[in-house]
Amino acid sequence: MADMNRFWKQMTGLGAKLRTLLFPRRCICCAALLDAPTSVPLCSACQQKYLEARRVCCPDCRSPIAVCRCRRIGAGNVPLYSLLPYRPGRTDDPVNRLLYLCKNGGEASAEDFLAEQLAALCECVIAEHPDIARDAWILTYPPRSAEKKRQTGHDQAEALMNRLSRLTGLSGIPCFVREPGTGAVQKMLNPDARAENARSSYRLTPAAKTLDGRYVMLIDDIATTGATLGTCASMLLDAGVQGVIALTAAKTVHAPGHDTQI
Ligand SMILES: [Zn+2]
Ligand SMILES: [Zn+2]
Repeated sequence: MADMNRFWKQMTGLGAKLRTLLFPRRCICCAALLDAPTSVPLCSACQQKYLEARRVCCPDCRSPIAVCRCRRIGAGNVPLYSLLPYRPGRTDDPVNRLLYLCKNGGEASAEDFLAEQLAALCECVIAEHPDIARDAWILTYPPRSAEKKRQTGHDQAEALMNRLSRLTGLSGIPCFVREPGTGAVQKMLNPDARAENARSSYRLTPAAKTLDGRYVMLIDDIATTGATLGTCASMLLDAGVQGVIALTAAKTVHAPGHDTQI
C-alpha cells in the first residue's frame, strides 16, 4: 500500500514536471518565462513594476492608494477603498494588464492574483471596524450588462466577488440585476448623468431586501467616477442595509497636470 502511494506520488510529480515542460508558465504581462514555481503570475521585472504601482499615492491625502481612506462616493457619501491605481494609457503597467485580463475573463491566474491581494484589503476593512461582527459583513457586486457578459462570457465583478467570498469566508449575495439594454453608455456620460443612468440600470434582488442591519462590501474591478458604485450603495442603504463600503481592485488616478478627478 505504501509502495502504491509512493508510486502515485511519483507519477503526479512527474505529471507536474511534464506539464511545466510542455506548457511553461509565462508572465501574464510580458510573456517572459517564469522559472521558479510560483503562484504570482508575474516575472520579476513586472513584479517590480507592480510594487511601484502599489506605492502610488492618492493625490488628495498623499497616502498609498491601498491605505487611502479619504474618498467618498454617491449620495450616501460611502467610502471607496481601492488596492491599486489605474493609470489609463500605460501599456507597460502590469496593473492595466491584470485589469484587462480580468475584464475579458481569459486568464484565471490574473483574477486569482488580484482577488488574493484584495482579500487582504477586505481583512483590513473588517479589522478597522472592530465594533462590527465579522459575520455581519456580506459581499456583493454591480453586475455587468447582459450584452457585455454575452460578448465576453464573463462578469469580472462577479468573478472577483466569488473568489473573495471563498478566500474570506464572507457570504457573497447577488443584490442587483441589470435592466436589459443599459450597457455601454455609462462611459460617455458626465458624473450627474452617470448617477441617473446607473439608478435606472440596476434593480435590487429580493435577497437585497432582507439585509436589514447588515454591512456590505460592494466589490468591483475599477472605479472611475464612482457613479455606478455610489448609486448601487445608495440603493442598498435605502433598502435598509446598515452600512456600505465600496471596494475595488483599482481606481482611476490621472497623472499630475491632467484632470485630477480620481
Ligand atoms: Zn513580465
Ligand atoms: Zn486619499
